[in-house]
Amino acid sequence: MSTPRQITLLEWDARRAELCAAGLREPAYGGPLGRHAAAGDSRLLRLRLDDSPAALRLWNFLLTEDERLYQAQAAGKRIVGTMKDLGTVPVMAYALENVVAFYPDGAWWLPCLMGRNTQLLAIADRLGIDDSFCPVRAMLGAFAGEPHFPLPGLLTCSVGAVCDDFSAIAQRLAGMGFPILWWEVPHRRRPEPGEAAVPLPGGFVAPQSQVTFVQGELERVRQALAEFAGEPLDDVRLRAGIAQANRVRRLLGELRRLVFTAASCPLGALEMLIAEMLAIHFCSDRAETICVLEELLAEVRRRAQQGVSILPTVSGTLRVPPGHRHTECAGYICGGTRSVPDTFRPVRVYWVNPVADLRVMNLLEEAGGRLCGSEYLFCHALSPIPEDLPPLEALARTALADPMVGSAGDRAAYVVADARRFAAEAVVISRIPGASHCALEGQVIAQAVREELGLPVLEIEVPPITDALEPGLRTRLEALVEIVHH
Ligand code: SF4
Repeated sequence: MSTPRQITLLEWDARRAELCAAGLREPAYGGPLGRHAAAGDSRLLRLRLDDSPAALRLWNFLLTEDERLYQAQAAGKRIVGTMKDLGTVPVMAYALENVVAFYPDGAWWLPCLMGRNTQLLAIADRLGIDDSFCPVRAMLGAFAGEPHFPLPGLLTCSVGAVCDDFSAIAQRLAGMGFPILWWEVPHRRRPEPGEAAVPLPGGFVAPQSQVTFVQGELERVRQALAEFAGEPLDDVRLRAGIAQANRVRRLLGELRRLVFTAASCPLGALEMLIAEMLAIHFCSDRAETICVLEELLAEVRRRAQQGVSILPTVSGTLRVPPGHRHTECAGYICGGTRSVPDTFRPVRVYWVNPVADLRVMNLLEEAGGRLCGSEYLFCHALSPIPEDLPPLEALARTALADPMVGSAGDRAAYVVADARRFAAEAVVISRIPGASHCALEGQVIAQAVREELGLPVLEIEVPPITDALEPGLRTRLEALVEIVHH
């Protein structure tokens, strides 16, 4: 087995040609990765990607989602746009034969991938949703003038305990004439003393009455999906859909366990982020998601067994501020450099929140870090759904396990437990520009991590395009690594 490497998109095309000459067989959506950059996703050229055939399949799967959605529509499939809940309604939709569901919210990443080749944010600006909102406002541009997906025949959106950003943007969408089936998830509260309570996937607890309420809301969604698809969506189908979703979640659980605990680093942070994202709506193809994850997991198992790492050993000069007192600086960086002629292993970093610019996951590794745990706002889409409950009750519990429908304190407790589980040595909280929940939530999480784990925490803000900010972000990540090494 050759040593795995991270390579550029252009290097990938030459590598793919070699792999094809050696007999690589690709799925229908396969092909050279360079074509995606040529078609508009030009900022892919700034990324460094894993060089395995499994990663090639993962990237091609991700980057062909819009094409595959249009093909599904042309083939007569009914297209459902599910918004905001990140991981519950798609499980129901994919229990139907004739339905393909996707998150329009995924437009979040288009400005990052396309850079100046897109006007999505400018369109949102013109509609009154400016950069005081989080990058999910790109979705509005995709509905209003720059199509990146077929317009769904049915749109659902969770409301209630959701962020102000999404509420406002979805209301704007409704005001523009897009009918939306709203369903409510209440703010998850602690059960009162003596009140009936139930455990949720992932470890939170909720009052039984809240689960019953959400179950009723999902009953409305069930009826709407069945009517739209022209097929019954009974408990038998829902159970089968949950079982398939759990296959995806267990594959991801094993992938996370192996990657985050292996002595060497078998898979990079960027591919791990993409793989986790498949959980929320299966990148519009549930069966293929399972195949993609199985191939990725097989590659990771091989690498872990052989002790090979995707990351080069970091050695040589690390930037450290003069007079720097590491015990005092957690989260703060001074200026200056000194040379540290030493060899370091990558520092184990737990990452909180998805990055609006994917390039920053590379930057973590270039700075000497290694991803060992993550909470990207959808941990409830990774926890297996209970299979021993009535299916809508199981899905209601899953919806209430969303880290964003509870308190920041609950989310901080989850991060602490998960970072402890993966023996993280530092935590990065990457704030999302404009995101209403990011104003104070980071402080709550940082305080819990410092108090309970004694780890250094770095809070950074990552906009969709970080090119101009990269030197500063790099310095701060390098300093975090240096703090851990001391
Ligand atoms: S990133 Fe945060 S602010 Fe933006 S839509 Fe998601 S939860 Fe809301």
